[in-house]
Amino acid sequence: MTEGVKMNEVIQYAEIDSELIPILDEVADPEIPVLTILDMGVVRYAKLIDDNKVYIKITPTYSGCPAMDVIEEDINKAFKKAGFEVQVDLVLTPAWTTDWISEEGREALEKYGIAPPLDAHADKEALLGNKRIVKCTLCGSQNTKLVSQFGSTACKALFKCEDCQEPFDYFKCLK
Ligand SMILES: [Zn+2]
Repeated sequence: MTEGVKMNEVIQYAEIDSELIPILDEVADPEIPVLTILDMGVVRYAKLIDDNKVYIKITPTYSGCPAMDVIEEDINKAFKKAGFEVQVDLVLTPAWTTDWISEEGREALEKYGIAPPLDAHADKEALLGNKRIVKCTLCGSQNTKLVSQFGSTACKALFKCEDCQEPFDYFKCLK
């Protein structure tokens, strides 16, 4: 997608100065390196407060996620490299939801082999194993089975495709 579309989508949820987007876009999510922190919707606020000073607010994805320290450090590095002084604050409310993951982020997740989150209701059905609604990331089949509530990390569940036998992670919905 073009930069313009991406920017609109980000701004829908967060207050971010457009000139800061290219810098933020360089910071990858430490757990899912194909996603940027903008794709994840972690950045809630990023404003130029002086000629070379930037103020940023980030909201952790899953509580107690150790990745947040890494994200803060990576933001610091990226802005220093671009010649800015930066202050990063953690904001806990409103809590992060998987709804904040951008459309690009969802596509990137799927290509990376992680099924993107469904909505809350569908998520519950999927995790209870009631309905087959999680699509295989390899072949797209909905003939998938929940193997474990917990995948490679606590925020993912492990599924297996019964058609192509591929095991894959499903990113659990969080609201
Ligand atoms: Zn499959």
